[in-house]
Amino acid sequence: MTGERIVFEGGRVVDPANRTDEVRDVVVADGVIAGPEAMEGAERIDARGLVIAPGLVDLHTHLREPGFEHKETVETGTRAAATGGFTAVASMANTDPVTDHAAIGHVVRDLAAAAGLADVFPVGAITKGRAGESLAEMGEMVDAGVRVFSDDGDTVSNARLLRNALMYAKAFPVEIVLADHAEDASLVEGGHMHEGSNSYAMGVAGRPAAAEEIAVARDLAVARATGGRLHLCHLSSARAVELVRAAKAEGLRVTAEVTPHHLTFTDDDVATYDTNLKMNPPLRTAEDREALREAVADGTIDVIATDHAPHAIEEKESEFDLSLPGTIGLETALGVVLTELVHPGRVSLMRALETMTVAPARILGAADHGGPIEVGRPANLVGFDPDEGWVVETPFVSRARNSAFLGRRLTGRVRFTMLRGTLTVADAKATR
Ligand SMILES: [Zn+2]
Repeated sequence: MTGERIVFEGGRVVDPANRTDEVRDVVVADGVIAGPEAMEGAERIDARGLVIAPGLVDLHTHLREPGFEHKETVETGTRAAATGGFTAVASMANTDPVTDHAAIGHVVRDLAAAAGLADVFPVGAITKGRAGESLAEMGEMVDAGVRVFSDDGDTVSNARLLRNALMYAKAFPVEIVLADHAEDASLVEGGHMHEGSNSYAMGVAGRPAAAEEIAVARDLAVARATGGRLHLCHLSSARAVELVRAAKAEGLRVTAEVTPHHLTFTDDDVATYDTNLKMNPPLRTAEDREALREAVADGTIDVIATDHAPHAIEEKESEFDLSLPGTIGLETALGVVLTELVHPGRVSLMRALETMTVAPARILGAADHGGPIEVGRPANLVGFDPDEGWVVETPFVSRARNSAFLGRRLTGRVRFTMLRGTLTVADAKATR
């Protein structure tokens, strides 16, 4: 479809990379943003009432392929991503085989290219097999274009290994980011929800906030000692946020993310034993949620990332203790952020979009994504109606349906998504 010309007329163009917010036309020709001279003969799309922004970038997606295709595939996951306004996602390494060498990354990227729905940036494992014992083939993966490494699902428990990885990563000529799932393994073992009055009342073993606090403090200490580049996945607790705020003030090279579900729910919501609200790290208290929202607003947290975690029905519809943790999130992320943060006035639209476009694109080294929306740049765009109400319900575009947001009313819906000049979503439906 390259060669096609499209002009989006009269949309509100919000471009966090340039910090501009203005009503104007956006012209696309040959897969890139074009000037007004390309308008002649272009297909016209009425974008009045829509916000047009750089295509969203998800720094934390579980696509499950290879190995767990009964949960999701690269194709179904990227179709869900496009439907949610994403043009790029980082796929986590806890596949089978584990993405701990370059070949698996190539497979995933080839599958994504064949589907043509979103660019996929494989995250490499930090340790071989994610076993936490020895470093993975990081150099080989960096040569293959990998920029972010993570053993997500598990923390890197061995501090010496984390130190070695941070030191090793510094030696590359490009910026390599180590992303840690920060929960102290010994404290969360056997736990299924936030440890507190709700877990006591429910008789469910807990995962205390101290587990995150300890792991984040240790990670920051190792980052300080090495000067290494650290990213903290899905923060959930007020004290962890406080540690990151202090580390940034000190000048450590650290970034952090939070999920839409941690910005929305508390452990009071888990009291229904709804397994779709079972997460690692767990949903915590109203005070924690407040601290996370504040941290998005003031920049302590850099990125909102979905932690899209698809599971098969039977893996979720079981007893609370036995069900697997996680929620899908690609299709609902933007609507949730608009509903929970932007419309109530907690976070500006510019700031919210910054956390979902330019900030994750920079961490990921995804130069074609995250804007700016300028002549000559790849036409990776999302258009959404910020005021359209809808209810989250099945079926999902994702192969899975374990959404924490099922039944919730959201305000704000993606109308179109464009990947390099091709509409992957039009009229709120995937085109392929
Ligand atoms: Zn994780």
